[in-house]
Amino acid sequence: IVTVENVVKRFGGFTALSDVNLSVRAGEKIVLCGPSGSGKSTLIRCINHIEKHDGGRIVVDGIELSDRMSDINDVRREVGMVFQSFNLFPHLSVVENCMLAPIKVRGLSRAEAHERAIGVLRKVRIHDQASKYPGQLSGGQQQRVAIARALCMQPKIMLFDEPTSALDPEMVKEVLDTMVELARDGMTMVCVTHEMGFAREVADRVVFMDRGAIVEEADPETFFRAPRTERARAFLGQII
Ligand code: ATP
Ligand code: MG
Repeated sequence: IVTVENVVKRFGGFTALSDVNLSVRAGEKIVLCGPSGSGKSTLIRCINHIEKHDGGRIVVDGIELSDRMSDINDVRREVGMVFQSFNLFPHLSVVENCMLAPIKVRGLSRAEAHERAIGVLRKVRIHDQASKYPGQLSGGQQQRVAIARALCMQPKIMLFDEPTSALDPEMVKEVLDTMVELARDGMTMVCVTHEMGFAREVADRVVFMDRGAIVEEADPETFFRAPRTERARAFLGQII
């Protein structure tokens, strides 16, 4: 469902991604990890075309990412994204946050969007908070609303960029549990996370990046037990 071929991304003279290749099949769960500055966020931002790549090809759901705006919106519709900071609209209630894009982008009626939003909020077990505002929720609850909001667009793939790293420890689990459930439901997921328990539990593949390149790719059991590269060993030594 996603193909990344020989992708290069530069910021001025700095090469943030050099010749990155990655393919994600429908239903696959990929955990992307690596040291700070290795290009993880840049890669998933390129997949969502928040950043434009400078070389190579990215194809999402059959559409090659380019500068043609109509196509870009076609792609974004199918790609859900959850960030470290929840980015909820503070002036909208939880349920309204979840209704906005389906109404504006998918053309649902308010009633349809409301019904869908309540259904998804129930799934992430936060429907009892539906009429509250983001500022009235805990960090973990806000992040689950952010996940629900993305799911209300019925995306084909979900991208997560360190969704738990801004949370207090006691709230990490509730967000990871939500992600595990999403994985069990068969969602295609690319998750930047250093939660190695999550990686072991759900990842089909762990992709390790360093200095703008993918240096290692393996199933989690192999990656954690026997990383092939010195760089991966050093990284795992730091986070475990
Ligand atoms: P972290 O674990 O800290 O989130 P990361 O692997 O997500 O790191 P990126 O955010 O992808 O790393 O950044 C990769 C490199 O690109 C870094 O050296 C960063 O400074 C640089 N970079 C990222 N965004 C920009 C930008 N908008 N302008 C200039 N440099 C950037
Ligand atoms: Mg990052």
